[in-house]
Amino acid sequence: MNAVTNNVRRSPPAKLPADSAARRPPLSGVPLDELVSLLAPIPAFRVKQIFLWLRRGAASFFEMTDIPLAAREELNVRWALRSTNLAGVKAGDSAQKAQILLEDGVIIEAVLLIDGAGRKTACLSTQAGCPVRCVFCKTGGLGFKRSLNSSEIVEQYYHLKHLSGGEISNIVFMGMGEPLLNLDELRRAVLVLSHGFSLRRITVSTCGIIEGIYELAAGWPAVRLAVSVPSARQQLRNRLMPGCAGHTLEQLKAALYKYQAECKHRITLETVLLGGVNTSEQDAGALAEFAGGLSVMVNLIPWNPAGGLLFEGQPLSSPGRSEVARFRQFLEARGIKAELRRRKGTAISGACGQLGVLPDGY
Ligand code: SF4
Repeated sequence: MNAVTNNVRRSPPAKLPADSAARRPPLSGVPLDELVSLLAPIPAFRVKQIFLWLRRGAASFFEMTDIPLAAREELNVRWALRSTNLAGVKAGDSAQKAQILLEDGVIIEAVLLIDGAGRKTACLSTQAGCPVRCVFCKTGGLGFKRSLNSSEIVEQYYHLKHLSGGEISNIVFMGMGEPLLNLDELRRAVLVLSHGFSLRRITVSTCGIIEGIYELAAGWPAVRLAVSVPSARQQLRNRLMPGCAGHTLEQLKAALYKYQAECKHRITLETVLLGGVNTSEQDAGALAEFAGGLSVMVNLIPWNPAGGLLFEGQPLSSPGRSEVARFRQFLEARGIKAELRRRKGTAISGACGQLGVLPDGY
């Protein structure tokens, strides 16, 4: 593998405190093949029935009416269905933000986004806080607590599904944290969530963790990939995303070529636009050059205000409409199609880059 070291390292999910470990472990984040071994000697066909109940979001083992009662009682003694609880909900125009309490008292956030056609997207977190420290992101500004285990990731989906009152159309790993710094647990979560849910509707968003992109390309379930490229000018990128300064844009592009060669999916480049910082014609030219040769869609995201964030001592600001329109024209003049991401969730601080609970949740 052409592994390239980023500035930030993978971090395993924290061990839960001893009193938590003594509790019944949750089954929500266990992929089917692991569950078959874990629940032996229960026959594989029964374990599949249990898995399907879990995947449908059953709230109790006693709902599993096609499982013999004695087996349900034994399961209930040894295992839990879930490990997290919904701690609060903020509802806005086109989004709902769920605050979720983990067993060790940490609170994370996940967001349900609803588009104009009524499609519902679950935006899930993979870490509590984030070690990458992008200057435009509230989560990065909070620091890093720990990575989530697969149950904590999967259960966000169930909490959001319950809030949505219906089916979820898409899953994006774009909440708190950098998914590719928690690859093993992310993979287990994807294996669970993709059961009966098309991989084409699951997107992993990364700041550009090179080793992780190569791993995605090498035999992972073929999820879609979105990459944050707030600047394709190396120096500016390093200043905006200090956690990514350990690799170059050339190395990132080589990894994206490999992913695309293996997975055949178009890649989304996410460009957050910061007023007066990264919206010049030169910035657009660098982005167009970076995108050249790749099959990409560029998403332009006018920065969502998140109080207190500074860039080299100056407060960040959202770009004006004309600034955004000009940047888009610069790109399109260079043959790059760009879509403007409609703001969703800003009223509840649930938009891109705004996730982060109060410091006492950490
Ligand atoms: S933008 Fe993503 S990678 Fe960067 S600090 Fe925020 S959560 Fe972490």
